[in-house]
Amino acid sequence: TMLTPNMHYSELKDSYLFNTIYRKTAEYQSSHPDKKIYRMGVGDVSRPLCDAVIKALHTAVDDQATMEHFHGYMPESGAPELRKAISEYYRRFSVSVSADEVFVSSGACDDLGDVLELFDKDNTVLVIEPAYPEYVDTNILCGRKVIHLDSGEENGFLPLPSEEIQADIIYICSPNNPTGAAYDREKLRKWVDYANRNGAVILYDAAYEVFIEDPDIPHSIFEIPGAKTCAIEICSLSKTAGFTGTRLGYTVVPKALERMGMKLNTMWARNRETRTNGISYILQKGASAVFTKEGLEQIQKNIRVYKENARVLMDAFERIGIWYCGGRNSPYVWLKCPDDMGGWEFFDYLLNEIQVVGIPGEGFGACGKGYFRFSAFGDPEDTKEAANRLCKLLGR
Ligand code: PLP
Repeated sequence: TMLTPNMHYSELKDSYLFNTIYRKTAEYQSSHPDKKIYRMGVGDVSRPLCDAVIKALHTAVDDQATMEHFHGYMPESGAPELRKAISEYYRRFSVSVSADEVFVSSGACDDLGDVLELFDKDNTVLVIEPAYPEYVDTNILCGRKVIHLDSGEENGFLPLPSEEIQADIIYICSPNNPTGAAYDREKLRKWVDYANRNGAVILYDAAYEVFIEDPDIPHSIFEIPGAKTCAIEICSLSKTAGFTGTRLGYTVVPKALERMGMKLNTMWARNRETRTNGISYILQKGASAVFTKEGLEQIQKNIRVYKENARVLMDAFERIGIWYCGGRNSPYVWLKCPDDMGGWEFFDYLLNEIQVVGIPGEGFGACGKGYFRFSAFGDPEDTKEAANRLCKLLGR
């Protein structure tokens, strides 16, 4: 016999976009060593963890040094205190989820991939584009059929369902990466109703929930009536509390979510028992500190800085008169490249003229062509300087 590798790997697009951004930026820097480059594309946070988290992490490390407080394996689905703290966090949004509907993860990325083990390979997946690339790639790898729903300026990058769409698994990311667009309750309800009518399951990526400020934008899909029978919510402390390098997230699988007599909550608990030995005690202690009164206050300090960066970018595009969305309930600003420039043309123009780097929209799906993503996760002074340079270059 001959081993057959997973041939679906050959169907993945390579990381052309990010590699090309990296290469072009590095080439420019080496030929212009005296120029400072403003990296406004990066989707990673730049500010440190808050005090409450750092203290809790230190204490937890010291716990591991003593007979009395040492911890070995943690429960696969998460420490009961942390699951409870997260379920209480949901009360802020008037959502009632129980601690055993909350599963602690090592980040949204991990669970977005792993959660697919709940579904048959013959299901069809709907990805609303432009989108975070993982949704498509993880499904290609298990050979699932992926259909794309394009969005655009005409619907504010927030497309709605239509009965022609035939999909079993639907990804919704709101506030969205890369467009920053966010569904309001009325629009999100249309997706929930569609899913309940058609027996589909929504995988709701709420990674940017903490950036929401408008009262008509839901923080959780479970704010929508009926969502508990059709949705799984995947969230993370990465952007909420600067955990991109620390790693902790959570996934909510409601007990009311059932298909063909199978309870997805029970299946997921069983999946965790098989697929993980739990998340580090130390990290769960650090994460628990986020959900204290003190922690929830402290994390707002960084969020305010990022939101101010987003405002600086939005102001610049207002002044220039460029179409954009996002920035308000999101750390991303998504704009139309001026003068019908293509994404790469605009990228080169900004790099060469003003040393500002962003991301061409086509990296997030074909319908992102001609658009561009800027991020608000950078340094405030650099963001202001980049915004000034954009205004000078593109102002008319
Ligand atoms: N989902 C979206 C939409 C993201 O943009 C990201 C990270 O950038 C993730 C998930 C992954 O987050 P995590 O760091 O929790 O794995």
